[in-house]
Amino acid sequence: MTVRTRADLSALPSYVPGKTVPGAIKLASNEVSAGPLPSVVRAIADAATAVNRYPDTAATDLVARLGEKLEVPTGQVAVGCGSVTLCQQLVQATCTEADEVVFAWRSFEAYPLVTAVVGAGQNRVPLTAGHGLDLDAMAAAITPKTRLVFVCNPNNPTGTALRRAEVERFIEQVPAETLVVIDEAYKEFVDDPDVPDGVELAKAQWAAGRDNVAVLRTFSKAYGLAGLRVGYAVGSPELADTLRKVYVPFSVNALAQVAALASLDAEDELMARCRAVVAERARVRGELLAAGYEVPESQANFVWLPLGERTAAFNEHCLEHKVVVRAFPGDGARVTVGEPEENDAFLAAARSFTP
Ligand code: PMP
Repeated sequence: MTVRTRADLSALPSYVPGKTVPGAIKLASNEVSAGPLPSVVRAIADAATAVNRYPDTAATDLVARLGEKLEVPTGQVAVGCGSVTLCQQLVQATCTEADEVVFAWRSFEAYPLVTAVVGAGQNRVPLTAGHGLDLDAMAAAITPKTRLVFVCNPNNPTGTALRRAEVERFIEQVPAETLVVIDEAYKEFVDDPDVPDGVELAKAQWAAGRDNVAVLRTFSKAYGLAGLRVGYAVGSPELADTLRKVYVPFSVNALAQVAALASLDAEDELMARCRAVVAERARVRGELLAAGYEVPESQANFVWLPLGERTAAFNEHCLEHKVVVRAFPGDGARVTVGEPEENDAFLAAARSFTP
C-alpha cells in the first residue's frame, strides 16, 4: 500500500466479536437470548417505511425520554451508536496523544482499542485475586496525565461488582480534572442492593460541585437491541456537549431510536425477563460450583470461569458440544446466561469436562 496510514495502528488488533457457529448455541456475546418483544418489532416495522429520510441526529425524543426516566436534564444525556462508540467518544472528548487512560485488566475488550485509536496512552491495572476491580491500585495508577478512568461495574468479563462505599471512596481519591466513567452495560442484572446506581452517584457529585463522573448504559443487553446499536451516556452538561461534538452525525439510526423508545414503553416486561436471567444465573453458578469450577459471584448476565491454561481446551470441548462460549486463552472463559434449555446444554458440556 502506498497510502500512509498511521504506523501505530498497524500493530493494533481488531476487536474480536463472539462467534456465531451454525447449529450451535451462542452464549458468547452477553446478548439476551429471547427475541425482541412484538411491540418493539411493530415499532421497527412502522418506522421502516420512512428510512429514505435521515434520522433525527439529536435523537430528541429518546434523549427526552431518558432524561425523564433518569431524572436528569436532557442536556446531560448523549446517545451513541452503542455504548462502545460512546467509550471512544469519551476518550476523544478527554484525551490527546499526550494523555492517558486508566482501566482494569481484564475488563471490556474495547477500552484498550478505543484508547489506541485516539492515540492516548493506557495504564492497565490488574484485577484482585478475587477477579474484581482493584480500586486502590487504580487510584494509585492515576498520574497527572490521566484524563479518564473506566470503571466497569459489573465488570465484563468477570461479572464481579463493586459496592457503593468502595466506589464512593474511589471517586473521592480521583483528581477533579480526571473523568471517572462508570460503565453500567449490565446494570439491569444487578440484584445486590449494595451495588450502586452510577447515575445516583454522579448526581451526588454534581450536587457537590464536582463534574467528573459520567455513566454509560446500553440498550444492547437487558433491552435486547444489540443488533440495532444504541447506548447512552449521562454526564455533566459540558461533557455531554463535548460528546455531541465528537459524535458522527446520524450514527444512531432511525430504527434504533424507535426501538429504544418502544423498549422503554415495555420496560416492565423487559425487566421481568432480566429477573428470569438472574434466577438462571444463580442456578448456573450453583451447578458449576458443584461440578468443581471456580466461579466468581456474578452480578451480570454471564459467569466467568478462570480456567487459565485450560481455557482453550474448555472452549474446544464446549464447541464439540455445540455451545459457543467466549474464551480468553490463558485466562478464562465467559459464558452468557441464556434461556434455561441453552443453559442446560452448556451445563451438560461443562460437567463432562474436568476443570
Ligand atoms: N460496555 C461493556 C462493559 C460491554 O460489555 C459492552 C458490550 N460487550 C459495551 C459496553 C458495549 O455495548 P454496546 O456497544 O452494544 O452498547
